Amino acid sequence: MCASQTCRAAFFDTSQSRTRKWCDMNTCGNRQKKARLNANQRKNRTGARMSTS
Ligand SMILES: [Zn+2]
Repeated sequence: MCASQTCRAAFFDTSQSRTRKWCDMNTCGNRQKKARLNANQRKNRTGARMSTS
């Protein structure tokens, strides 16, 4: 099951380490990464919105 809250798609973990969390690293994985980045940056800049999608 994909770890993304917005996706929740079922996928087959084909990675060697079996540590894959998302159905697609390029979509859900990136989203999670960005979310974490945003959470970190929120400390530094509050209110600054970058619309990089
Ligand atoms: Zn997903």
